[in-house]
Amino acid sequence: MGRVEELIAESEKELAGVFAGMDAIAYANQAKVLRAFEKNRIALRHFAPSTGYGYGDEGRDTLGALFADIFGAEAGLVSPNLVSGTHALTVGLFGLLHTGDTLFSISGDPYDTLCEVISGKGNGSLADYGVAFKKCELKEDGSFDYDAIRDGLRDPSVSVVFLQRSRGYAWRDALSEAQIAEVCKFVRSCGFGGCIFVDNCYGEFVEETEPTQNGADIAVGSLNKNPGGGIAPTGGYIVGKREYVEKIAGRMTAPSIGAEVGSYAYGYQLFYQGVFLAPHVVAQAVKGSLLIGKTLQKCGCESSPATEKLPYDITRAVRFRTKEELCGFIQAVQSASPVDSFVTLEPWDMPGYADQVIMAAGCFVQGASIELSADAPIREPYTAYFQGGLTYEHCKYALQKMIRALRGF
Ligand SMILES: *Cc1c(COP(=O)(O)O)cnc(C)c1O
Repeated sequence: MGRVEELIAESEKELAGVFAGMDAIAYANQAKVLRAFEKNRIALRHFAPSTGYGYGDEGRDTLGALFADIFGAEAGLVSPNLVSGTHALTVGLFGLLHTGDTLFSISGDPYDTLCEVISGKGNGSLADYGVAFKKCELKEDGSFDYDAIRDGLRDPSVSVVFLQRSRGYAWRDALSEAQIAEVCKFVRSCGFGGCIFVDNCYGEFVEETEPTQNGADIAVGSLNKNPGGGIAPTGGYIVGKREYVEKIAGRMTAPSIGAEVGSYAYGYQLFYQGVFLAPHVVAQAVKGSLLIGKTLQKCGCESSPATEKLPYDITRAVRFRTKEELCGFIQAVQSASPVDSFVTLEPWDMPGYADQVIMAAGCFVQGASIELSADAPIREPYTAYFQGGLTYEHCKYALQKMIRALRGF
């Protein structure tokens, strides 16, 4: 064994206990998903294509019901017409917020691509429609600022309380389900009667329960991430209380037709199969992330979350000293990808992001970040965010290239 292989083998030994914990979670989630398949009596006919208006499209309707059951929710929308997580979140927020309402984020700034949606000027944002926004930050240690939340909720115009489960482009741990359960209880104890809304991107199937099982009213995410299982070709989902899901459906299509219209000529097989595979795929990604984090640490590279315990989302942030190191790391991920491994990456002005972004996404599904992928805004401190990996072995293979890039050989 070479030195790099030895390092990796050492990490694997140290991670055995944490890996066993993740395997147990994957099993619990696989069982949960299969129980939902059984309850909804999924059959081959649900995979059939539909065209035109899609009236009576059983594949579409049952997919929504299936997701609702998996997430412990009353109702669900799952659609290839939701083009991404950002779109699903936008449709969700516009469906629930009206002029004069306030959106209150209790986990600091929402994800980069939502900032223009919420506060943009003259672009059709929530602000343009007279919806106000306010936020309180998480505390230094990543916990909720309960005093600030209580104060914020005194404002009767607050109708949606927003929280983001994953870390986004921030150096903080994702929120745990225990934290989410506790804060939802607290928000209710303050007398809040509106909607608790969770950006669930990157969190699905990392723990045994989902926010909608822990007090949240709505959870939203992208099928290019965890619940697509790496094979859903596109799409987003929205699950939660029926009353809210129906309002959102009215915004997704039109208030008069809601979720009763919408077709997909390619058929729904890959959405069903994707969510069936998702618990396993997510476990592969989490174990890959732990292996990479632990081994990079041995190479003197700081990363987050910690590798001594299970993480709460699939993402990992890694800090570098220079822009060159950062770009070298992202390039290593690209070179280890099954698609476009030969490509030389360049930073670009990506739609929806404030700084230039360099992105490795040698994926089967374009930009799918449940597949091994990495990106970084070009700004100090030089931090790369990576996530995904459909197989643990792919993560391990990429790790070798990462180490070689860092050491310059
Ligand atoms: C990825 C992500 C989004 C946006 O999802 P897209 O599918 O990329 O549009 C929103 N919020 C968080 C926390 C994310 O990680």
